[in-house]
Amino acid sequence: MVTDAPSRKANRAAFLESDRIRTLDLPQDGRLLTIAQSIESAMKAGKSPDVYRACAEFLAATSAFYRVPTSTVRVLAARPLRVRENWATELFGDYNPETMLVRVWMRTAVRKQVTSFGTFLSTLCHEFCHHLDYQRFGFCDSWHTRGFYERSAVLYHHARGTPPKRLFWAAVPGGRWRIDWPRTNRGK
Ligand SMILES: [Zn+2]
Repeated sequence: MVTDAPSRKANRAAFLESDRIRTLDLPQDGRLLTIAQSIESAMKAGKSPDVYRACAEFLAATSAFYRVPTSTVRVLAARPLRVRENWATELFGDYNPETMLVRVWMRTAVRKQVTSFGTFLSTLCHEFCHHLDYQRFGFCDSWHTRGFYERSAVLYHHARGTPPKRLFWAAVPGGRWRIDWPRTNRGK
């Protein structure tokens, strides 16, 4: 994971704010965990309509919790040919800010490998965080900042019921950051 390069003047303040917000409020009950578990069992059973229903329920619950308009979802069998070019790093989903539609797909484009549940849920959380950027934080764009990745990870670990990991970052040229996995895995 590498962050986007800092944006130019006009959007710089919002970019920095996105970078700075490293966490999210979380529901204090187990509702997201329960829904995530139903996504997992539907995936295991290979029942696409159930995967869709559970994803829609997940986005309805998260949208309600964060008091934003409900984001809709489409679950696709395979990656569509046309995806947002500037978000090419996203292999398993995308988000359209105009329609507030999240798309996630269950197979990769080239090798048609099945997406693992962890990757699928992480993608759903990632795309929902793009929705939050526009609808909750009011950003004019949704950048992949350190804050963005951390907010997505907080939501993912909460929904998955796994302990959140502190992310460590290493600078790369061009004002970008990548996750320092050895340090992140060591936790220091
Ligand atoms: Zn993204």
